[in-house]
Amino acid sequence: MTLISLGIEGTAHSFGAGIVSEDGVILSNVWDMLTPSEGGIHPREASRHHSELGPQIIREAIKTSGVSPNEIDIVSFSRGPGLGPCLRTTATIARTIAIKLNVPLVGVNHCVAHIEIGCLDSGFRDPVTVYVSGGNTQTIAFSGGRFRTFGETLDIALGNMLDTFGRSIGMRFPAGPKIEEAASEVSDYYELPYSVKGMDLSYSGMLTAARRLHSEGVSLSSICYSIQETAFSMLAEVSERALAHTKKNEVLLTGGVAKNNRLTAILEGMAKRHDASFHRVTPTLAGDQGAMIAWTGLLQHRAGDSVTINESSVLPKWRTDEQDIIWRDI
Ligand code: AMP
Ligand code: MG
Repeated sequence: MTLISLGIEGTAHSFGAGIVSEDGVILSNVWDMLTPSEGGIHPREASRHHSELGPQIIREAIKTSGVSPNEIDIVSFSRGPGLGPCLRTTATIARTIAIKLNVPLVGVNHCVAHIEIGCLDSGFRDPVTVYVSGGNTQTIAFSGGRFRTFGETLDIALGNMLDTFGRSIGMRFPAGPKIEEAASEVSDYYELPYSVKGMDLSYSGMLTAARRLHSEGVSLSSICYSIQETAFSMLAEVSERALAHTKKNEVLLTGGVAKNNRLTAILEGMAKRHDASFHRVTPTLAGDQGAMIAWTGLLQHRAGDSVTINESSVLPKWRTDEQDIIWRDI
């Protein structure tokens, strides 16, 4: 019998539900992202979004998957890292369904799920992963039983930097796609802080400098072009070093910012120079969604890792490298 997993994601602005079978077929993947008309994401508003829309998103995911609720073998949920109120709402929904269906509950690390769905999507076995999203910027590789973070942002995430700069000049959330579009119009470069510290990155100085350029009257497209070239080159530098150090031969780009074509081209070129395969996660699997939680939950459950309801408290600060990855045998 093939196991069926319901995955529920709700760490930040998006709520998603996905149904995935043990053989890696994504039967459904439904989500909705909170897009405030102004300002950023408030954790309380996002959790309200999840509690209001969650049940109907899950219902729709089950309906479009073609499986009936009693065919669901496990309920997987994003246990962390993320915003406390969002995680708690999501966990409460997941626990309720697991109790109702009388099936095991699996607590999934959100960052690990981005990697595992990327591996399913690419067929990669052991990549260097560049995970770039609204809340995370990490270069990750598997070593000694865990996904090790080789480098990460020391302050704000790449997506957050793009969104915050966009917001300050009147772009609506998410600004990343709009910045990409504006950047494609020109190729005149204005210098911005290139801040790589060892394997880590910093984007807050770039944000300040980009805003300054804007107040000095530099054209928006030139600023967007300069932000992209600088920010993405920084990422290419650290991921190239991670690749050379680990001697792996696959590079995986994932997270919401992976939708960016310029970033994809830069990292693809870097991988090619090292004779490594490159894969950018399919856009529908790049951002936060339930299928990645369902799939990782399956891998975890098969290896014997589930939680009891009483022990299923959320882990807002759960780091990628804090989980023993017992389902990988490399
Ligand atoms: P996530 O946090 O994984 O759901 O991804 C959302 C983030 O991806 C937001 O910060 C968006 O601005 C960013 N994003 C989405 N599409 C693009 C794009 N084409 N270029 C750059 N950033 C993007
Ligand atoms: Mg994410």
